[in-house]
Amino acid sequence: MKKNTRLPEETYIKGILSGDRVVLSRAITLVESTLEEDQRLAETVMEKILPYSGRSVRVGITGVPGVGKSTFIESFGKKLLDKGHKVAVLAIDPSSQKSHGSILGDKTRMERLSSDKRAYIRPSPAGETLGGVSARTREAMLLCEAAGFDVMLIETVGVGQSEIAVKGMVDFFLLLMLSGAGDELQGIKKGIIEMCDAMVINKADGDNLESAKRAKREYANALHLFPTRENGWYPKVEVCSSTELTGLDEVWEMIQGYREKMTYNGFFAKNRSDQNENWLHEHIVYLLKSGFYNNPEIKRIIAESVPEIKAGTTSPVAIARTLVQFYVDKFI
Ligand code: GDP
Repeated sequence: MKKNTRLPEETYIKGILSGDRVVLSRAITLVESTLEEDQRLAETVMEKILPYSGRSVRVGITGVPGVGKSTFIESFGKKLLDKGHKVAVLAIDPSSQKSHGSILGDKTRMERLSSDKRAYIRPSPAGETLGGVSARTREAMLLCEAAGFDVMLIETVGVGQSEIAVKGMVDFFLLLMLSGAGDELQGIKKGIIEMCDAMVINKADGDNLESAKRAKREYANALHLFPTRENGWYPKVEVCSSTELTGLDEVWEMIQGYREKMTYNGFFAKNRSDQNENWLHEHIVYLLKSGFYNNPEIKRIIAESVPEIKAGTTSPVAIARTLVQFYVDKFI
């Protein structure tokens, strides 16, 4: 972001609170900026809008590429708009670090949803570490909430770390699956199953319908083998077709059922306050880490030490301690 594109603090706050999508986009760009001045302004804006955030249901959506995530989000999102909701779609895509592209980045995706004024779609910030991407996404989510969006759909691709990041910021985590792809649950990492609140078998249409229903039974049985959760929720399995628009109402009913149950037993609020606490620690680590690694002197010393460390003539442990001590003494 260029320096001269920064708006006055009040303009961001008023614009966001009045649901101005242009200002919302500019506020997210401000949050994504790596310039220190932008970051400080972003922090003030975040502080001021915080009391207006939180009034949404936050849904994480994951699944392997090709499972139909963007088709599902478009159809599901459209359905929610028809029910009177305002939907924001955000993404966490660690692969965008390398490719500088990102999921949701392609404008042709989710065309129907993105052209609707009641929806807001924002691609994953590119060229960042996962820690950076998830920090920005979390803030973007709060900004969207303050702008009046009441359903957050946070998409990620099926690669471990990014799922953990999404799980850490949502109320409900949904795993999209296919029937007949690798049978049973073997192909999916156990950790992801333990994280998800629902499995939704997509593409349950045409020749696939029967096998999707069969898979639903198999998955439901397999899920019973997992230990009961602290919040008393048993992950559910649904089938849907994102192209024929079947099963989507059931998915929404399930999410609402979850929300009601968790609100009643206190876990909805507990989960969010635990997430806030974790966010503090994650952000401390993020600030320390990015400050450290972006420091020119640290960069220089690391570059000088690497050959010796690679050659095994110096201990990485000793160098690490010296570097951290040097950083603390000189810069903190
Ligand atoms: P993503 O990579 O997970 O975002 O998957 P996409 O949404 O791009 O979908 C991958 C392909 O699957 C596309 O060709 C979609 O048209 C197709 N697809 C998505 N959902 C469905 C569905 O419910 N039924 C059928 N038959 N095809 C689908």
